[in-house]
Amino acid sequence: MLAAMSASPLTSRSPGDACARSSGDACPGALRLHRADDGALARIRIPGGVLTPRQADALGKAAERFGDGELHLTSRGNVQLRGLTPDCGAELAGLLDEAGLLPSERHERVRNVVASPLSGLDGLGSVDVGPWLTGLDRLLCESAGATALSGRFLFALDDGRGDVDALGADLTLLGHDDGDALLRVGHVDEVLRLPAAEGPRAALTAAEAFLDSARETGAWRVKDLPDADAAALPAEVLRRLRRTGTTVTTGRRPRPLEVLPPAHGPVVGGHRESALSVGVPLGRLVPAQWRLLLSGAGKLRLTPWRGIVVTGIGPGRTEGLSAGLAEAGLITGPGSPWAGVGACIGRPGCAKSLADVRTEAGAAVGPAGRLPVYWSGCERRCGHPHGEWIDVVATPGGHRISHVRGDLATATTTVRDDPAALAAAVATARGART
Ligand code: SF4
Repeated sequence: MLAAMSASPLTSRSPGDACARSSGDACPGALRLHRADDGALARIRIPGGVLTPRQADALGKAAERFGDGELHLTSRGNVQLRGLTPDCGAELAGLLDEAGLLPSERHERVRNVVASPLSGLDGLGSVDVGPWLTGLDRLLCESAGATALSGRFLFALDDGRGDVDALGADLTLLGHDDGDALLRVGHVDEVLRLPAAEGPRAALTAAEAFLDSARETGAWRVKDLPDADAAALPAEVLRRLRRTGTTVTTGRRPRPLEVLPPAHGPVVGGHRESALSVGVPLGRLVPAQWRLLLSGAGKLRLTPWRGIVVTGIGPGRTEGLSAGLAEAGLITGPGSPWAGVGACIGRPGCAKSLADVRTEAGAAVGPAGRLPVYWSGCERRCGHPHGEWIDVVATPGGHRISHVRGDLATATTTVRDDPAALAAAVATARGART
């Protein structure tokens, strides 16, 4: 074991960052499949994670017909299909299109939008982000310029509770107590304040301003801009909004660093409809689990924490649905040892991986810990959490465990070839309640 010395910048790259700028943005999509070791991979963007029953059914069919049968949830509330046959592209696209999952072929990879998954369901939050979501998606798909956004540029629609605001999106719309919207450009604490109805158009204006700012450097995200360009961007967005007649002022709203996913279990506090928040161990759903999720619901909302909020559950059905989902291996209440445990695809699906981290994560599952843990097969850490978390990375010298806060990581120990010691070290790092 190696004792940790000091904090250092987390050198991870975000999901899809394997695409080098010199080689263009090669992030996978529904139409541009990525060749992985376990077959072709499709990433289907689901703005806000919202799926109608018909769309959810189509995804399940696509996974079973063309792939490994499983739906893999991503850290942006999207879905990946893996193990696809190499020649399934046209049929897959046809199936997704028919279900309304491909409203614009040219925009399919830029519809990266996360949204507060409990918005409008639990009585919290200042706004219902539903209208923002449909408005922004429509504007994006109508914008020729937006096709230049990279496949990893992220919009967040936060109803004011601060959940998806903590995810470090490029542009974040926030609900404000007086009914206005706040627009955060990048990660700064200064925000623009404008009428809520103008929110989606303001977000698109900000994205266009980013694209103009990034023209010379080819930056894919706001954080990739040179410091001076990133610092100047909010003022440029303000200028453009005023030019279009939008009433906009400036203010300050510190970005939350603590990430608060929805608690697992029945959603309480709302009056409109019954809903259930479900966790998905390692983000993998087999066909039987997916069918069960669809059995009692109106819509599904996939969360950026690899969970699902089942909405529109029929009267008196929540308890039975919850019991069935728990029996099928999903998380439907507090105290599950799987809560907060995540892993990248690892071996054998990813050629870069040094370990079968999903199996290792499962073997190390123990008493629930205070902090989430994420296992990665290499230093890229695809799909890692945000905020404060425990990082377990497979390295040539063993599994390195670090405590991450924001962008800083403090290595605590490295464990080599000793699964029991590894599990114990992870539990200690997470602050497990034994
Ligand atoms: S091993 Fe994991 S973190 Fe590394 S590239 Fe593959 S999926 Fe990403």
